[in-house]
Parts: sequence; structure tokens; C-alpha cells
Amino acid sequence: MRELEREMEGIEEEDEEGEEGTGEKNPYLQMAMQFMKSGARVRRASNKRLPEYLERGVDVKFTDVAGLGKIRLELEEIVKFFTHGEMYRRRGVKIPGGILLCGPPGVGKTLLAKAVAGEAGVNFFSISASQFVEIYVGVGASRVRALYQEARENAPSVVFIDELDAVGRERGLIKGSGGQERDATLNQLLVSLDGFEGRGEVITIASTNRPDILDPALVRPGRFDRKIFIPKPGLIGRMEILQVHARKKPMAEDLDYMAVASMTDGMVGAELANIVEIAAINMMRDGRTELTTDDLLQAAQIEERGMLDRKDRSSETWRQVAINEAAMAVVAVNFPDMKNIEFLTINPRAGRELGYVRVKMDHIKFKEGMLSRQSILDHITVQLAPRAADELWYGEDQLSTIWAETSDNARSAARSLVLGGLSDKHHGLNNFWVADRINDIDTEALRILNMCYERAKEILGRNRTLMDEVVGKLVQKKSLTKQEFFTLVELYGSIKPMPPSILELRKIKRLELEETVMKLDMTTARNSS
Ligand code: ADP
Repeated sequence: MRELEREMEGIEEEDEEGEEGTGEKNPYLQMAMQFMKSGARVRRASNKRLPEYLERGVDVKFTDVAGLGKIRLELEEIVKFFTHGEMYRRRGVKIPGGILLCGPPGVGKTLLAKAVAGEAGVNFFSISASQFVEIYVGVGASRVRALYQEARENAPSVVFIDELDAVGRERGLIKGSGGQERDATLNQLLVSLDGFEGRGEVITIASTNRPDILDPALVRPGRFDRKIFIPKPGLIGRMEILQVHARKKPMAEDLDYMAVASMTDGMVGAELANIVEIAAINMMRDGRTELTTDDLLQAAQIEERGMLDRKDRSSETWRQVAINEAAMAVVAVNFPDMKNIEFLTINPRAGRELGYVRVKMDHIKFKEGMLSRQSILDHITVQLAPRAADELWYGEDQLSTIWAETSDNARSAARSLVLGGLSDKHHGLNNFWVADRINDIDTEALRILNMCYERAKEILGRNRTLMDEVVGKLVQKKSLTKQEFFTLVELYGSIKPMPPSILELRKIKRLELEETVMKLDMTTARNSS
């Protein structure tokens, strides 16, 4: 039996030898041999595998990132950790292993991380945390290991993890499928981060817009111990970002960046970059060679509200839309928190039939939620203005539904006002338990709506000439700028001065008091002399 086996082996060997012997002439075998040779080369190369997560040609500098003010200084320090690492180490300063950039999407977190790598002249490895999350347990963890392995081999380097919250959520929060995998990945990430603690060879920069849901173990000192908040850019910030992106474009000499920046309130860097691109494309389309302020303003409109839709409308429809928009603007201009009207337009945009009034509002009051009761009442009044105008200009029996959306806003705002305990009738916090008082609340909301509606009607009735002028101009020109609108308000408006605020009243009182005290002092001084 054994002999038989040996015989067979022998035959096989002979066969192989025979094949090899003939192979040199046989073209197929030649190919096979070549393949084998090349296979050896492939194997050798795989030991020195090209880094998978390395981003090549990252050439971003801090000058490409604008509008960040002091935040840039903090990141410049991180560059120093790389360039002057020895200095820090010698003095026993611990270099942070991880930096967390927090902020809304598009504010330039990725760009900043690249700029750090670019300025320090180190390798840049990047991965999106959503790539870590797979159905199969262990894949994410092995990717983390591979990423850090590469970063270590190519140190010094920056590891950038985008959307860290995809994997860094507090452990145990996700139940069912995926939870286990995430936990395993996160554990691996924690281990990898610890591996570099304080040495400054590999610095991890992660970005997230939800720092609040991250696992406490991730943000403890030694891991992502440094948090940098990147807010949306302010006016000057927006101007600088526009200028950075305008550098490579043919801009007109007299371009008014300030005008564009003030029209793009609330936009982030990515949107501003897009505005410059859209404007440049429009310029090319029209066969011009320079970008003007108008191009940028129009592009800002496109970015915000979509493409212009050149639809034909009957003159009556134009007028109806104009009345709708004009009413909001004319009522809003009466209220301190809403009178900052940037422009109004009745040009239809793709997907939206009606016009638009852009009002610049106080960021802290409206976004951070510090509205006064009076501001909410004013907001409700403005939202009811289209309904009031419809009644005044077309009559009760000719009402349309053009104001449906704004009235809905008014309705929900009125309800929130009552629920929040800000109405006259329900003072205090007893409105939090509402189950048995729905009726009361709705009746109170209705009372507020009616009151605001009467207020809107009164303002519009008082400003009939102004309304007619604004509507006429809108139908004719389709858009009114801030200046054009306020010229009409100056000429035809009947705006009642608002009652002074409590702060102003207090200031006046204090001045009066100071004056009387001064007078008293003088008289006593005169009497004594
Ligand atoms: P995030 O990572 O915060 O979502 P990105 O860094 O990806 O935002 O930003 C996208 C693009 O927006 C960038 O490539 C850049 O062109 C532009 N951008 C964003 N913020 C800025 C800024 N502060 N300065 C210059 N350009 C910016």
C-alpha cells in the first residue's frame, strides 16, 4: 500500500518535472510561470502595503481657513506639538493625544484638521467613523487597528476621524443589532488612543456635531481631552471666508463683500464656498469675465432658496402675491425685533410659488431662545398680516388661501406662548400639566390670535398708501432692496414710535436722578459759601 502511494507520488513528481521541462516551450506554461514569478513579487509587496487611509497631496494651510479668529490660535498650538515636540517633552508637558472639533456641519472642521497636517508637514490619515460601523462584529475594531497601525508606521501623523458620534455614542445606548459591534469598535478606539498618550507622534483630531452624546470614556482626560467648539461664522467671518474663496476667481475691483456677508446670515463656510462657485458658473454662462456683487447676491439666493423659476403669471396673481409679501414687511417694520428687513421679492423659486421677505433677526434672541413675550406677540402679528391684507384688499367674501402657511405659523406660536405660561390668563408654570386643560389653552390661544389679528389689521389700515406703493413697486420690479423699501417707508409710512423698553426707561430715570442730585449739590454748595 505504502509502495503504491510512493509510486503515485513519484509519478506525480515526475509529471511535474516533465511539465516544467516542456513548459519552457509551451506558451501557456510560460505564462503560468511568469504568473508564479509575479505572484512572488505581489507577496513581497504586500508586506509593504500602501497605506489605505493616507490622504495624499494634502496641501491646505491656515490661510485657506478663514473667519475663525481665536480658534486658529489653538490649532496653531497643535502644529507646535509636532514641530517643537521635543521642547514640550523635555519640560514634561503632556501633549494631548486627541482633539475634538465640535460644530455644525460645513463650518470647516475637516479643513482645519487638514490645515494642521499641512502646516506641520506631517501625514494625514482620515476615515469617517461611519466606516467603522459594520454589521459584522469585529470589522470596525480591525479597521481602527489598521488605521492606527498605518499612522504609527508613518509617524508623525494626524489621524482625522469624521463624525465621531457614529461610533462614539455612549456604550449600551444602542440595543439590538449593531450595538455590540459599536461597543467593540469603541473599545478598540480607546485602546488605540491610549497607545499614543502624551508622545505627540500621532495626534487624533475628531469631528462631531453632537459632543453631548459621546461616551464619557472618550472625552476623559488623556483621550479627547481638548474640545474646540467651532461656531457658525459671524458677519466678519463670512466676509473673510468669501474673500478666501474669491482668491482664485476673477473678482470685480469694487466687489462689496460686506453686502454679501450681511445677506448670508446663518450660513456656514461650505455654503459660502458654494455661493462663489455658483456665481462663477453663472458668470461663465453669461460670457462675462468678472464676478460682481450682484452675481454673488444672486448666487446666495440660489443657495438659500433654489433656482429662479421664470414662470408666467397673470398680472392679478403677481398682485396677490405682492400684497401677501408687502403686508408682512409693512407690519414687521413696526416691531423692534423684526424691522431689520433685508429685501422682499415675489420672484418664484423652484418648488416654491410664493414670494419671500428676508428679515434679519437677532441671533441670540431667536436661535438661542431668549425671546420676550412681546417679540412672540409681534411675530404672531406679522404672520397674520397676509390674512389681514387679504381681508382688507379683497374683502371677506373673496378670501383666498394664500395665507394658509403663515396663519399656521401664527397658530402654533400662539399655542406655544400659552403653553409656556406667557399669556395673561395662565401665569406661572401650572401649564406644564395640561391634559385636562386643552380647552382652556386653545381658548386662550384663540384670544391671542384675535388680538394680534386686530393689531395687524390696524397697522395695515393705517398704512394703506405705503402698502399700495410697495405692492406697485413689487409688481413692477419683482424685488425690492432694503434701501428701496425703507425709502418708501420714509415717504409714505405711518409708523408709530414703539413704547420705550424698560431698560431705556430706567436709564432716563437714572439720568433724571443724577441731574437732581447735581442741582441739589450745587445749591447746597452755594448756600454754604
Ligand atoms: P465640516 O467638516 O465642518 O463639515 P468641511 O471642512 O468639510 O466642513 O467644509 C467643507 C468646505 O467648506 C471646505 O472644503 C471649504 O471649501 C469650505 N469651508 C468651510 N469652512 C471654511 C472656512 N472657515 N474657511 C474657508 N473655507 C471653508
